[in-house]
Amino acid sequence: MSRTVPFYRHQLGAREAAAVAAVLETLFLTTGPKTKELEESIAKRLGVGHALGMTSATTALHLALVALGVGPGDEVIVPAMTFIATSNVVLHCGATPVFVDVEADTGNIDLAAVERAITPKTKAIIPVHLYGQMVDMKRLSAIAEKRTPRVHVIEDCAHAFESERDGVKPGQLSDGAAFSFYATKNVTSGEGGALAMRDTAFFEKVRTIRLHGMSAAAYDRHTGVYRHWDMIDLGFKANMGDIQAALILPQLPDVEAKNERRKAIAAHYDRLFEGAKDIGHPTTQKGVHHAHHLYTVWVPPARRDEVLHKLQQRGVGVAVNYRAVHLLTYYREKFGFERGRFPEAERIGDSTISLPMYPTLSEEDVEYVASTLKAILAEAP
Ligand SMILES: *Cc1c(COP(=O)(O)O)cnc(C)c1O
Repeated sequence: MSRTVPFYRHQLGAREAAAVAAVLETLFLTTGPKTKELEESIAKRLGVGHALGMTSATTALHLALVALGVGPGDEVIVPAMTFIATSNVVLHCGATPVFVDVEADTGNIDLAAVERAITPKTKAIIPVHLYGQMVDMKRLSAIAEKRTPRVHVIEDCAHAFESERDGVKPGQLSDGAAFSFYATKNVTSGEGGALAMRDTAFFEKVRTIRLHGMSAAAYDRHTGVYRHWDMIDLGFKANMGDIQAALILPQLPDVEAKNERRKAIAAHYDRLFEGAKDIGHPTTQKGVHHAHHLYTVWVPPARRDEVLHKLQQRGVGVAVNYRAVHLLTYYREKFGFERGRFPEAERIGDSTISLPMYPTLSEEDVEYVASTLKAILAEAP
């Protein structure tokens, strides 16, 4: 039996189309009432004071660092197992990304390694809630808070919209939490992002630099008589528009139901791989409410690329999330990194394969993916 199981399928449909059509009837195609509604929904959902719609998680992370004053001479601690956006934004600030290794069982940033990496130059830490499993934010924030001056924490929540750990949600124990609404993320508008924050002064700073450093955005200037705007800071162009916000809003009521479905799919994969030779995978820690953004397996590194290609040939969509960042050409050349520096990130980077994971995956799809993977591994290389 053969079938095609794509890596990802979105579920946007008539509801989202109607929401966008409604925006086209109004005045605001840029940041307006829909963006505000989304920002308020996100802040409320997380129980934090503020959220700002952005063009991407990358711009959300970048602007958070800029607003914290991260610049040349500063160090920012990041995991070596993540998407390049996490460390690239540090470079865009002129600061130094300080990579640390990750935990063997989860792939999340190793908090003991974070403690060892902190120096007087450390300005911030960016934990990544990899695949949707949250980092232990209670322990991380305790590590950051006990330094003088306090080390800032900005969470990369690109995989973690639905996550929670020990009763803590993204944004609750950090300076900011950056979300992605990129095409393949659990909640999506094709492109888009958001930054959730607790502190009002920090929020106001980020809001200003989100739009060129202007004193008022179009929406705020729209009512009443014309008033001049001023430029009060040097900012960027990273504001979300109402079309993106309108696409996202109808998805929010379904987030929990879809998470339940993802959880069932992950459990199904887990069962099918139980005891399978040559198939490992990250484990979920106690107290974690997992977003199940990605389901990854670890296969023998010598066979990873072969298995990847054979899965594709047999109709199974796959991806690699991720190869270790410090070994990519740009980072290698800039910092002189060599193999062996971050062994767990490298082991995961060399062995990982992401399998299809989305709510519309059927049980037959999951069984086909699992049996195809096991069959490939049982063949000679
Ligand atoms: C997708 C992703 C990002 C970047 O998100 P964009 O919205 O595309 O900028 C950052 N970090 C991680 C871990 C991601 O998976």
